[in-house]
Amino acid sequence: MNKVRICATCGTKYPADFNEEQCLICEDDRQYVPFGGQKWTSDSDLAQKHRVKIKQLKTNVFELIVDPVFAIGQRAILVLSKSGNILWDCIPLLDENVIEFIRGKGGIQAIAISHPHYYSNMKDWAETFDCPILLPKSEKDFIVNSTDKIQFWTADKVDFWEDIQLIRIGGHFPGSSILWLPKLNGKGIMLCGDTFNLSLSMKHFSVMYSYPNRIPLPIKDIEGIKKKIRKIEFDEIYGFWPYQNLVTEAKKILIQSLKRYK
Ligand SMILES: [Zn+2]
Ligand SMILES: [Zn+2]
Repeated sequence: MNKVRICATCGTKYPADFNEEQCLICEDDRQYVPFGGQKWTSDSDLAQKHRVKIKQLKTNVFELIVDPVFAIGQRAILVLSKSGNILWDCIPLLDENVIEFIRGKGGIQAIAISHPHYYSNMKDWAETFDCPILLPKSEKDFIVNSTDKIQFWTADKVDFWEDIQLIRIGGHFPGSSILWLPKLNGKGIMLCGDTFNLSLSMKHFSVMYSYPNRIPLPIKDIEGIKKKIRKIEFDEIYGFWPYQNLVTEAKKILIQSLKRYK
């Protein structure tokens, strides 16, 4: 009989009744099965060897990341607001320390996730904090550990409180999204997951169908993304890796980067 399993490559958690030998997320050509084949781990193994590290990025914005790095190594970002806290993206570990920290900040009122590579153990997070998970219906086939906390959206955006918006950008996945925080710094902040991928130089973004497999997007898709970006006001971007904190001129750098695609 199968047990609850976590894919060691992408961090997705599978329920006991999942009968396949391979991870559905890693088999898709936007991810990869590692050389040597599929590897699985468990909640208890993950909890023994890792913890969730919490770091304040700025007022009301906290990074949550599995330490040492596990699987893709993305961070989740907790945004505090008077009308309700939002968890942006998700990480495969939920330990007592982070639960206590988040409860001390008022809990989580909604979870929004950029795309299926970060669905990880979203069910555990949503059920622990008794909050909805907002997911685009276009990606429903990538949900492997379902919960009645999931609420599908089909429009181009979701309006939260305090003018915060979840905006569909597309590209990497049809429903790849960003979270827009227009009021936190006066000029606008974008949390982008890997909808846009900032380089180590902090001067260039790429947007691709698959980052690990180096598969580009059709140019018509890039043209659509350029139009969407021009309409959003922001000066800061926080990406999925912890170095990806671009705290000024982010819109200018993103637009310049996208001009290279022609
Ligand atoms: Zn996987
Ligand atoms: Zn991805």
